[in-house]
Amino acid sequence: MRTQVAIIGGGPSGLLLAQLLQRRGIDSIVLERKTKDYVLARIRAGVLEQGLAGLLEEAGCADRLHAEGFSHDGTLIAYGDEMFRIDFKEHTGTPVIVYGQTEVTRDLYEAREKAGGPIVFNVEDVVIHGADTNTPHVTYTVDGTTQRIDCDFIAGCDGFHGVSRKTIPADLRREYEKVYPFGWLGILSETPPVSHELIYSNTPRGFALASMRNENLCRYYIQCSVDDNIKDWSDDAFWDEFKKRLPADMAAKLVTGPSIEKSIAPLRSFVTEPMRWGRLFLCGDAAHIVPPTGAKGLNTAASDVHYLYNGLREFYETGSADGIDAYSANALSRVWKAERFSWWFSSLMHRYPDQSDFDQRMQIAELEFLRSNKAAQKAMAENYVGLPY
Ligand SMILES: Cc1cc2nc3c(=O)[nH]c(=O)nc-3n(C[C@H](O)[C@H](O)[C@H](O)COP(=O)(O)OP(=O)(O)OC[C@H]3O[C@@H](n4cnc5c(N)ncnc54)[C@H](O)[C@@H]3O)c2cc1C
Repeated sequence: MRTQVAIIGGGPSGLLLAQLLQRRGIDSIVLERKTKDYVLARIRAGVLEQGLAGLLEEAGCADRLHAEGFSHDGTLIAYGDEMFRIDFKEHTGTPVIVYGQTEVTRDLYEAREKAGGPIVFNVEDVVIHGADTNTPHVTYTVDGTTQRIDCDFIAGCDGFHGVSRKTIPADLRREYEKVYPFGWLGILSETPPVSHELIYSNTPRGFALASMRNENLCRYYIQCSVDDNIKDWSDDAFWDEFKKRLPADMAAKLVTGPSIEKSIAPLRSFVTEPMRWGRLFLCGDAAHIVPPTGAKGLNTAASDVHYLYNGLREFYETGSADGIDAYSANALSRVWKAERFSWWFSSLMHRYPDQSDFDQRMQIAELEFLRSNKAAQKAMAENYVGLPY
């Protein structure tokens, strides 16, 4: 087979890139290790920046986002029984959109299928060859048969555990990592949200987040130990703990119900540099991970897609390699800012096992400063709604 861009990974990065390229007449083949149902069953991000919404529009996939997504003009921050609001609209003029990653992925799959763009599921043993030459190719196995795709470029959109990043020789890669000493236990429940806007809560018992997907679907999280076993967390135990981490007036109106999904996610900050090796470009979680506190994972994946799509488009439309040559530097410049924000917000809101009384008072002092200082609120709002591309 031959294509212009071989895309490894059928998550949101790979699908969005494929769809944007397709609209410009640039063909691609998407290789996905899992089934479509498996990818769609992953419950992950839910807060979208306007930049991602704009890319979905450009990809022709934003109808349901506009019809069913919720515009959030602010967010609530609690510490103990105190709570205040960061007003995104007031400080930036821009809201964020609450619309699940699962729905984004579903819309992208639908568009890809409608356009007749190829996606190969259940691929195994993907190997990237000749990425540092002008004639790269990818081999993989599907149904026991080995296949080969010759291409101009390879987009490594295969997430943190994919093969693309590891294809770049170790001596050319520099990796930066911070692993947090806690995880997030999350549940999805078909109950009305305790608050329309998200509540981020710092309590002596640990962090909690009340998030929503729609008027009858909630995504709630509590900070837990990385060593916790999901089997030890009954729904009742979760609700009991979650309530204790909300301000009393919010806890009093919390509606509980059976979970329809429950999982524990570790928290990690990670960046690999550079994000390009020859004709291989890393995109999204393949190159960087953020703790989910700042809602930046899917959104930084989208900004990578923006830079790569425009670089490839420029290459095919004008013959100039300037955009693809600048890809790694441009993408990383924005990624590091999102990393900083996610690290800062995580550090502010969680309880650390080795935290001293002084450290805790510093968190409270910073929260009180944020509550009272418009400049600090504006800085937070600008980062939360997403820095410009
Ligand atoms: C609990 C949780 C909450 C989150 N909340 C938010 C949030 O609120 N806001 C936000 O912006 N982000 C959030 N994120 C992060 C967000 O989900 C990710 O950043 C996003 O999924 C990245 O998309 P991606 O396409 O780059 O990678 P992925 O979604 O990981 O997709 C990669 C794809 O590649 C496939 N693949 C892997 N290896 C191979 C291979 N060898 N060959 C072929 N295919 C392969 C995988 O099966 C997968 O489908 C959250 C994440 C978690 C875990």
